[in-house]
Amino acid sequence: MGLLEGKRILVTGVLTDDSLAFAAARSALEQGAEIVLSGFGRGLSLTRRTARKLPVVPDVLELDVTSQEQLAAAATDLSARWGRLDGLLHAIGFAPPNCLGSGMLTAGWEDVSVALEVSAYSLKALVGAFLPLLEASGAGGGASVVALDFDATVAWPAYDWMGVAKAALESLTRYLAKELGPKGIRVNLVAAGPVRTMAAKSIPGFSAFESSWAGRAPLGWDVHDATPVARACVTLLSDWLSMTTGEMLHVDGGAHAVGA
Ligand code: NAP
Repeated sequence: MGLLEGKRILVTGVLTDDSLAFAAARSALEQGAEIVLSGFGRGLSLTRRTARKLPVVPDVLELDVTSQEQLAAAATDLSARWGRLDGLLHAIGFAPPNCLGSGMLTAGWEDVSVALEVSAYSLKALVGAFLPLLEASGAGGGASVVALDFDATVAWPAYDWMGVAKAALESLTRYLAKELGPKGIRVNLVAAGPVRTMAAKSIPGFSAFESSWAGRAPLGWDVHDATPVARACVTLLSDWLSMTTGEMLHVDGGAHAVGA
């Protein structure tokens, strides 16, 4: 029996087959989950094309996390379709170009606020929109929410305001875990090492620490392999970590644990 047998899971953030969420969706299907994907704006048609590469082709909902209407419509759809939600993968991040690279002192609030809303506040927006569905998940250990993080406990080259947004996401995860634990909902992060996705390629200078990662990580690291990240997401979505919440699970080859 698969780890996610009988689980109904919404997977956001599948854009291409390089997306971390694509690997997570594939692993979730392999582990017996029923999934629906969500896609956004101009990327929606690409998400639909990418969905066809999965072993079972899932439906794709349109969901811009900054749109109250689309959040409500997605909740209505999932409510009619499943009546509950056992898992939610948040794999969403965006910062306007001038927030990245060398934007720390130059980016204005207009752009910074977009980065914070899409990359951090969106976790609360999703959880809020789907709360009754998540609460209705009685199966096994209750519902599990997992978000993808890039460790924001230190400052990175080039990551700039995206790093600040990730720090907010980390804090928000702890507050949501505290708030939602009594409702039987867990909230955790997977802090991934660098993987070559569309979002990663759009960060100027990202390749600098991409290339040094494998040397630093005790276990080594392959920037083209999202499988270890996907499996960690699946494990957190399963009942196997039913007493874990507010946690940041590093899947980075161990790089976070060494100083140089
Ligand atoms: P990706 O394939 O480019 O996925 C990012 C997704 O976020 C895209 O599907 C993107 O859609 C979506 N998105 C952006 N704005 C949105 C909005 N307003 N509403 C809904 N969706 C929106 O890149 P990825 O690297 O797999 O990123 C997934 C997550 O993993 C992100 O949170 C990222 O920060 C995190 N992460 C990535 C790495 C890495 O090295 N790749 C490492 C650690 C953590 P559009 O492209 O259509 O805008």
